[in-house]
Amino acid sequence: MKLLENKVALITGASRGIGEAIAVKFAEQGAAIAFTYLSSDEKAKALEVRLESLGVKAKGYKCDAGDYKATEQLAADILKEFGSIDVCVNNAGISKDNLLLRLTPEQWDDVMQANLKSVYNLTRQVIKPMMKSRSGSIINMSSVVGVRGNGGQSAYAASKAGIIGFTKSIAQEIGSRNIRCNAIAPGFIETDMTHYLQDGGAEKWFEKIPLGRFGKTEDVANAALFLASDMSTYITGQVLSICGGMSV
Ligand code: NAP
Repeated sequence: MKLLENKVALITGASRGIGEAIAVKFAEQGAAIAFTYLSSDEKAKALEVRLESLGVKAKGYKCDAGDYKATEQLAADILKEFGSIDVCVNNAGISKDNLLLRLTPEQWDDVMQANLKSVYNLTRQVIKPMMKSRSGSIINMSSVVGVRGNGGQSAYAASKAGIIGFTKSIAQEIGSRNIRCNAIAPGFIETDMTHYLQDGGAEKWFEKIPLGRFGKTEDVANAALFLASDMSTYITGQVLSICGGMSV
């Protein structure tokens, strides 16, 4: 039996990078996939086709995860189409890196809305159907930067640290309903978001990573699969670092 058979998973920001890898991994394990994206229409269509070729139902929704009303409509549409939401991966996120004195109020707000408000928005939408079915797994994408901070990334780090506080609080609120809420804290993972690091002398970063390499999107997808599946039914309120040992 596949690990996510008969489950419906909602993954935000799956047109590229980590979200895409999670969608593929979950589909390989039998989950029906509803995923979102912001603007990558062609990539989303291609992913839909790829997921369907794995033998599962799949649909991409263009939806700004930071827009509360839009996520309300999204949840209603998914429930109509798929019948339930058993797993929610709040993965959508952006980075706008700048030293604080150069960081504009608009940049701060953009990062908070896309990274932190989005997690509130989607979690609020999915807990009702999860309560109804008396089970669920919510997985929030934080970052090692949310745990340790990083100069030049104050807005991003604050949003990712906020996700950790939110995750631990929600785990306490809804644990009695058999709904789990955990966070993943990736280190440097090879995606568009970290492209500038990969180009500019990756070796200097490898010195800070005990396993001596950047992570792959599949490394994060494997952790998400564990937290989504019944392999982790007694785990909630935790932050799982996928960082090659960088945060030890
Ligand atoms: P990415 O390659 O830049 O992909 C970001 C994804 O999020 C895209 O699918 C994008 O859609 C979507 N997105 C962005 N803003 C959105 C919004 N407001 N509403 C809906 N979708 C939105 O990023 P990634 O590297 O895979 O990162 C995924 C998550 O992991 C993020 O939360 C990031 O902060 C976190 N993370 C990444 C790393 C890393 O090293 N890569 C490390 C730690 C944490 P479009 O394609 O339509 O733009």
